[in-house]
Amino acid sequence: MSGTGSSLRRRLVKAEQQLADQAERAHRAWLANCNCKDQTFVDYAKNFEEEMNLRCPCHGFRRLGEIVRFDRAHPDARLTELIATYEAGLAQAESEQAHVGPES
Ligand SMILES: [Zn+2]
Repeated sequence: MSGTGSSLRRRLVKAEQQLADQAERAHRAWLANCNCKDQTFVDYAKNFEEEMNLRCPCHGFRRLGEIVRFDRAHPDARLTELIATYEAGLAQAESEQAHVGPES
C-alpha cells in the first residue's frame, strides 16, 4: 500500500464530504422557499381563490393541507366548487410527482 494512494483516498473522501455538505445546504435553502401549508382556514371563496392560485417555488403546486371551512352553517357553493378544483389539482400534482423522481 503506497502513501500516495491513501492520501489520494483521504482527499477524495474529503471532497465527497464537501459535496454532500453543499448539496445538504442547497437542499435546505430550497426547502426554505416552500410556502405549502399544513392547514388552511377558509372563510370566503374569494380569499380561498387567492390562496389556491399561489404557487410553491419548491413544489410548483402549492399544498394547502387540511382545509377547515368556516361556512358550514351556510355552505358557499362557490367555495365548494373552488375546493373541488383545488383537490383535483392536488390529485394531479401528486400523480405527476409519483412519476418524477431520482429513480426515473
Ligand atoms: Zn412547497
